[in-house]
Amino acid sequence: MRFWLVAALLLLVLGVTAGPRAPTEARDRIKVVTTVAPLTNIALNIGGSRIDLVGLIPGGVDSHTYETSPSDAREVATADLVVVNGLALEDAVVELARANLKPGARLLELGEYTITRDQWVFDFSFPEEEGSPNPHIWMNPLYAAGYAELIRDDLIEIDPEGAQYYTANTLHFKGRIEELDRAILATAASIPGQNRRLLTYHDSFAYFSPRYGFSVIGAIQPADFSEPSAREVATLIDQVRAEGVPAIFGSEVFPSPVLEQIARETGARYYDDLRDDDLPGEEGAPEHTYVGMMLFDVRLMAEALGGNPAPLAGVDPRNTFEP
Ligand SMILES: [Zn+2]
Repeated sequence: MRFWLVAALLLLVLGVTAGPRAPTEARDRIKVVTTVAPLTNIALNIGGSRIDLVGLIPGGVDSHTYETSPSDAREVATADLVVVNGLALEDAVVELARANLKPGARLLELGEYTITRDQWVFDFSFPEEEGSPNPHIWMNPLYAAGYAELIRDDLIEIDPEGAQYYTANTLHFKGRIEELDRAILATAASIPGQNRRLLTYHDSFAYFSPRYGFSVIGAIQPADFSEPSAREVATLIDQVRAEGVPAIFGSEVFPSPVLEQIARETGARYYDDLRDDDLPGEEGAPEHTYVGMMLFDVRLMAEALGGNPAPLAGVDPRNTFEP
């Protein structure tokens, strides 16, 4: 009789203490601070309801020249994990994190661990003599899946009780990325080969293009993020004429009158809303995600360059994390 009583008590105690607790209280959740919106959304898909997430750089703000504020310092100082792209994209935030991280907190520089130095691309707006490679690694969905795995690993280090949850969320996210990748491959293949060339204002397709058979023939924005000189514009106009590019692509974040001029003088059409760090739709809209942003860009490219965007319609842009 006594044995059963002890066993029952033991089970009761184990039942209460074993297994992951549901992190219902804010104080139980991990605080994660990120920079640009696509990274913030990837972190959300992995951390889900176990993290409190703060994205420092608002959508539509130039991340390359972003300057931090006192409130950013406060966010970073209370974070358990600060997630940045690195590769000189958001140096101000990296500096802030190094100076303000609380003991035991982590700084995760995704770009540094996703590709190796021999995979770095130096190009139009990111020339080798400036020292830092093109930082837009997340624009290749396969690398975005790598970002997700790095975030998962750090979250598990900080919050081992959530290991199963973070691992399951990462699997769901990578499943969606595989669907996205297949749909982009099919859509890109529908664009006539001679049109699969990108002339963009902001130089953010360096890692996307080789995966999907595009070549980046140029970027209009100079390395210091100023406007190009009259001479540079004249060179671009010659290039667009010589190569017969059907469309040129501007950026949501960097509106530029130069595009309009190049289009007018060459007969190419121009589209001014490609995006690499601004998610489409309002906060809370189904397409306001990393996947939604990639679908938006590839749909625009397909429509502008004579392809068929139909394969993209089968990809659900919504977040994949478990509640
Ligand atoms: Zn950018």
